Amino acid sequence: MLGIIFSLLTLPYAPNALEPVISRQTIDYHYGKHLQTYVDNLNKLVVGTEFEAMPLEEIVCKSQGGIFNNAGQILNHNLYFMQFSPVAVDNHTPKGALLDAIIRDFGSLDAFKKEFEQKGTTLFGSGWVWLSADKDGKLVITQETNASNPITKGLKPLLTMDVWEHAYYLDYQNRRAAHLQSLWQIVNWDEIARRYTE
Ligand code: MN
Repeated sequence: MLGIIFSLLTLPYAPNALEPVISRQTIDYHYGKHLQTYVDNLNKLVVGTEFEAMPLEEIVCKSQGGIFNNAGQILNHNLYFMQFSPVAVDNHTPKGALLDAIIRDFGSLDAFKKEFEQKGTTLFGSGWVWLSADKDGKLVITQETNASNPITKGLKPLLTMDVWEHAYYLDYQNRRAAHLQSLWQIVNWDEIARRYTE
């Protein structure tokens, strides 16, 4: 019998709660099908390997090939899905020490958002754009292709936008930039601040 080592995270909101920014249909496929498949694949691939008992972060830093791809995509999507809240919730603007750091490192909140959207829009092919903190607490924006995560570069991941087409094609078709711009309406900055100070 195949043991279940890694499991699908539980969303902290209803599948239709992020509408109109992300539709229920996109959540059903993205979370219910794509992420579930990465979890199922990793559970099959790690059996009998040294990765069986490792946390996802450690697997992503130490593995390659199929194990890296599936573990990376689980880690990336867990951070992605946990960072949102419905439009009506009052947590869609950074504040406090995190806002101060954004202004220090990017000039202003608007300048940060513009650079983040630009790096997401210009990432060629499939991947992720990230806001991370380096070991000194300085904020950086990086592009990661396919399943990669900034922890492989020694960075602490804070916020991400998924630019794989499966993340936006049902709702926005080819308009990746419009999708990225709309996501600010659902970013839960309380969760991003929690990651920053953790
Ligand atoms: Mn995805």
